[in-house]
Amino acid sequence: MSHKLKVGELQETYLTDEDIWRTFTIILSNKSVKSSTYKYALIKSLIENLYQVNENFELTYDQLAYSFTKVYWNLIVTHHLEKQNRGKNARVVTIIKEAQRLYGVPNEFSFDKISEEIQIKIVSKVQSTMKENVFGALYGDTKGTFYAFDHKKEYFKINPPVHAFMLNYQRLIVNLTNYHLAAMIEQLNEVPSINYLLGKVESIARRSSLRPFEKLLLNHFEARCFYCNKTLSGHKRETHVDHFIPWSFVQSDHIWNLVLSCHTCNRSKSDKLPKREFLEFMIDRNHVLTNKQEDQQVRSMMMNYKERKMVMLYEYSIKNGYDTIWVPR
Ligand SMILES: [Zn+2]
Repeated sequence: MSHKLKVGELQETYLTDEDIWRTFTIILSNKSVKSSTYKYALIKSLIENLYQVNENFELTYDQLAYSFTKVYWNLIVTHHLEKQNRGKNARVVTIIKEAQRLYGVPNEFSFDKISEEIQIKIVSKVQSTMKENVFGALYGDTKGTFYAFDHKKEYFKINPPVHAFMLNYQRLIVNLTNYHLAAMIEQLNEVPSINYLLGKVESIARRSSLRPFEKLLLNHFEARCFYCNKTLSGHKRETHVDHFIPWSFVQSDHIWNLVLSCHTCNRSKSDKLPKREFLEFMIDRNHVLTNKQEDQQVRSMMMNYKERKMVMLYEYSIKNGYDTIWVPR
């Protein structure tokens, strides 16, 4: 488990912007397995300290922990957003709430209003949980390409190309990080004061029903699951229309990306990519559809389809972090 690491060395000194973007996309998206908001808070802390690095691109644990504590204090105490984790409470929440009680800090105090002496005490506690749960985890997700660290020396060094990248695209990274952090907090906290706008914005492009596609596909193909080949009985909720390349990536409903599937496959596949051999089946399936020239609707829907597009989409989705490959049970 990478988050238990005490030392992490830089694995790659030469990185292109494309390499770094790819890693960023993975750590920011929900494809990277994450159970808490820690990574987002660490990225925010890094951004906040981009101009604090010394000539060797190093930061102290204190600098990072100060920013990290501030982020959580303001989320938890000021905004009452206490769920920062799936399942049990995140350790940082417990630390901050205990500190607030112990030092009698009023709710309306943002972190910078607390006396320096108390700040230092809280930061030092938070730092110990960062050592346990935070530095190693993000290090692992970036495959050691973003930074090096050493718990004993409390040494943290950003990889220079990553530092340059973060400076170049700082605004974009801040927006992306805030967006994903907010989306996760929104999901974890059922607080009436937040109105789930982010979730709404994410889904406004989504079609409410794929039924018309189901009918079209049933006109041309046997009622079988594309993935497991099971016969689809026609019972209520048995036949599903599945996005071969996940909707969350394509953000659109093209017939050449839609297949009939059974309830079990549709559910377990969710927004994962199917195994590569299904890409071949998909291309064959679409070849059949392209030849249905007599169906005017299908013909117009297949007009802009190219086999190459399907392959590109498959590969781009992997590049963008859809790297959990699904196989039917
Ligand atoms: Zn199936």
